[in-house]
Amino acid sequence: MKLRCPCGNRLYDNSDFQSHKAYLIAEQDEEDFVTVLGADSDLNWDAFEKYSRAIYQCERCGRLLILRDQDVLTFAPDTPERSAQVLRSVEGENWRRHLRGRWSNGKGEVWWGFGVEDEGFETQFQTWEEVASTYFEVFERLKSNNILRDCFLVKEGSTVHKWP
Ligand SMILES: [Zn+2]
Repeated sequence: MKLRCPCGNRLYDNSDFQSHKAYLIAEQDEEDFVTVLGADSDLNWDAFEKYSRAIYQCERCGRLLILRDQDVLTFAPDTPERSAQVLRSVEGENWRRHLRGRWSNGKGEVWWGFGVEDEGFETQFQTWEEVASTYFEVFERLKSNNILRDCFLVKEGSTVHKWP
């Protein structure tokens, strides 16, 4: 999905764990939502879908964009710098991130995090050894800093490392 901010910037919604997207739950719905929690997790997701609305922040101007039915409502901040990254995780830089490594047909990539300082997307690899070396270096750093959610490394379709 793609949204256009009044400042001209385009906002994309094309993956999970995005730092410029959050959900809004009305206080009027809080009790109904929490009452459903505690049931099995499928019901939790249904309740979340029912009671929450997506909200996005433009990374260029700091505006908030809220979807209501077919409408996109926009709110501009009085202090854009102070209001930046208001939708990111409450954990901030301590948010536990993913790490992925892949090598296939002479091409490799290693990526981790998005919307945090310790993030990366590297594709300039000549060999499998370079991919593995970068992956394990990042793995050790993220794990020892307790900011790793999960990770895996795949070589020609086979998983050669996985955590946890
Ligand atoms: Zn904008």
